[in-house]
Amino acid sequence: MAQLYFRYGAMGCGKTMQLLQVAFNYEERGQKVCVIKPRTDTKNGTKLLTRIGPERETQFTFTRRDNIYKKIQKDYRDVDCILVDEAQFLTPAQVDQLMDVVVDFDIPVMCYGLRLNFRRQDGGFEGSTRLLQLAHKIEEIKTICDCGRKATLSCRFIDGKLATDGPDILIDDGKTKIVYRALCNHCYHRLKKEL
Ligand SMILES: [Zn+2]
Repeated sequence: MAQLYFRYGAMGCGKTMQLLQVAFNYEERGQKVCVIKPRTDTKNGTKLLTRIGPERETQFTFTRRDNIYKKIQKDYRDVDCILVDEAQFLTPAQVDQLMDVVVDFDIPVMCYGLRLNFRRQDGGFEGSTRLLQLAHKIEEIKTICDCGRKATLSCRFIDGKLATDGPDILIDDGKTKIVYRALCNHCYHRLKKEL
């Protein structure tokens, strides 16, 4: 029986690398995968990019209005696995559609995404919230903070300063330097007090 997976972690924990590794393992066995991601910005286009180099073209990207179930039913019924990058940007309805894909077509769906948005807001990423509610298997991809503790937060820094407010998706205008770092709660609180 196929299952819906949610593999979550903080920024920079290597989610996309893991996804690419899983895709590679399937293809090495002669099986077909369908790699997809939400269309949130134009910077990365239709490719998955990793910080350490490997990249890959997606089968398709989707907007918040797209019905992923229908797209897979039409064009990708024959794949052995569906891999979703940046799954935090799914709508709750799209997570439900992916569950229907698992149940109706018996295709495993593996979603990779962030657990929490950078403001640590309750329900910050509705896609992640829905995945935490629905997925058969929920797995953490661990990473560590600069201090050595486990990092659970993805924090935004603008020109070197911790940002505690702003939109979830920030388009780089080239004027300010936007960096994301994985932090533990201790370091987050310390940096927040220093603001
Ligand atoms: Zn720390």
